[in-house]
Amino acid sequence: MVAIAGVAADLDGLGAIAEVATQNSETPLLWFSEYHHVLGHNLGAALVVMGLALLISRRKLLAVLLTGVSFHLHLLGDILGGRGPDGYDWPIPYLLPFSDSWQLAWSGQWALNAWPNFAITGVLLTFAFYFAWKHAISPLEIISDSANTVFVNTLRNRFGNPERDLFAS
Ligand SMILES: [Zn+2]
Repeated sequence: MVAIAGVAADLDGLGAIAEVATQNSETPLLWFSEYHHVLGHNLGAALVVMGLALLISRRKLLAVLLTGVSFHLHLLGDILGGRGPDGYDWPIPYLLPFSDSWQLAWSGQWALNAWPNFAITGVLLTFAFYFAWKHAISPLEIISDSANTVFVNTLRNRFGNPERDLFAS
């Protein structure tokens, strides 16, 4: 739930499919250009995500807190390192739908394909692989338990089984 909350904001980017599909038509749909970083990247969307976590979780306070942190980490990441290839900084209209007076952006923002994003991704992937190997939990668990098991077993076949090694020593 927390992991999904961390990517939920980008559901407002799905308009890219319609925009690309209609770009050569007489009436192109500009759903990505007009709604990305508008519909999902704001306080209202955060409250929806946190409200859903409250409704469907058993550990409600923890779920609301962690989905809120996760959602806002996404916004922070976009502000820090989400500059588009055309130089556009995709400001975050944080107070929507209540107000459009805040447009959060940072003058030092780096591009999506800049080295800090590759470095952060590399560190986090390494952590995710290590965590999956050690604790048998990977992001694939969100989609399928069996996919998670296959992934963990593949890692453990390649790098050894930390549980078996634990019992052997
Ligand atoms: Zn985003």
